[in-house]
Amino acid sequence: QRVGYALVGLGHLTLEELLPAFGECKKSRVVALVSGNPDKMRKVARQYGIKESSLYSYDTYDQLKNNPEVQVIYIVLPNGMHAEYTIRGAQAGKHILCEKPMANTPQECQAMIDACQKANRKLMVAYRIQYEPNNRMIREMIQSKRFGQTKFVEAFNVQNSANPDHWRHKKALAGGGALPDIGLYCLNTVRYLLGEEPTEVFAYQYSTPGDARFREVEEMVSWQMRFPSGIVANCGTHYGVHETRRYRVMAERGWMGLDPAFAYNGLQPEVSYAEGKIEHKEQPKQAEKNQFAAEMDHFSDCILNDKQPFTPGEEGLQDHKIMAAIYQSARDGRPVKLTAVTKKDAFR
Ligand code: NAD
Repeated sequence: QRVGYALVGLGHLTLEELLPAFGECKKSRVVALVSGNPDKMRKVARQYGIKESSLYSYDTYDQLKNNPEVQVIYIVLPNGMHAEYTIRGAQAGKHILCEKPMANTPQECQAMIDACQKANRKLMVAYRIQYEPNNRMIREMIQSKRFGQTKFVEAFNVQNSANPDHWRHKKALAGGGALPDIGLYCLNTVRYLLGEEPTEVFAYQYSTPGDARFREVEEMVSWQMRFPSGIVANCGTHYGVHETRRYRVMAERGWMGLDPAFAYNGLQPEVSYAEGKIEHKEQPKQAEKNQFAAEMDHFSDCILNDKQPFTPGEEGLQDHKIMAAIYQSARDGRPVKLTAVTKKDAFR
């Protein structure tokens, strides 16, 4: 039994990753599309065997409610459109899988959670890293204290973003710059690895003056998060430098990390530890799975067996509260305490 998905938005992620990933799914299948470009949509539909009667525009989106084959709507639109399409999708009686970042603001995230609750539908944020075996292995090493107590973390996700006209550089559609787009991986993955919530953040933000890419959104954010156990995480994101996507977690008797950590594939774990005077270095790589197939099948399993997703809407809200505090710290030039952040146990 496979859960039927409608994909909303036929951009890069949908065409290059999600549609091919259904071929590796065991519990999920694509049965409908929503797009503003009918010619492109018909072509894609033919390629993936989707019925003409299951093709929708943004205007006819709400009619998905009359399509019993669709159980999940997967929102793959610019960030600023996630809230509206999630809320309308829940009102159409469908479960929602929403791409990251969940929305533009914590207020939008809360409205999405409320709408799904009211419609008695499930809501999951597509944090693919949390379903990926190499990241899960590092998390297990940290939480089982394989090398003792973790003390310090560094995480970076940076790249060159070339096109100033893309929606990612427009505040209304993107919500922000490097932070919500790629910096979010550092934030969400560190929380996931440590199983703790930060109590305070401190940040710097910078954009090169006169650079057309950064008229509306920021180029760089560098921030630190303090955790209740005393761990400090040093994180950074940038839209103006050559790609690096890695983290390292430093514990009493060893360190463990991934480089790259956040890519779609080719993730490379590395571990270093001491036994007496002998230093060991290992690369304990786990067999890779398609991250998008793993994430979609997890949500389908939650629907088939009425379970709470591992990354529900509250997980996205949490990240948005922390990002709001990061921006506030950068603006005010001082640390910001996170009193409003819910403990992870409350929603897992
Ligand atoms: P994209 O620009 O390639 O695609 C966006 C789609 O939205 C296009 O088909 C576009 O036509 C459509 N669209 C509808 N209304 C629009 C409007 N007003 N302005 C611009 N486009 C509009 O973007 P993408 O890279 O596919 O990203 C889509 C979403 O997926 C974003 O939220 C992004 O953060 C997320 N994403 C997640 C991952 C991941 O690894 N999980 C990777 C890439 C993107």
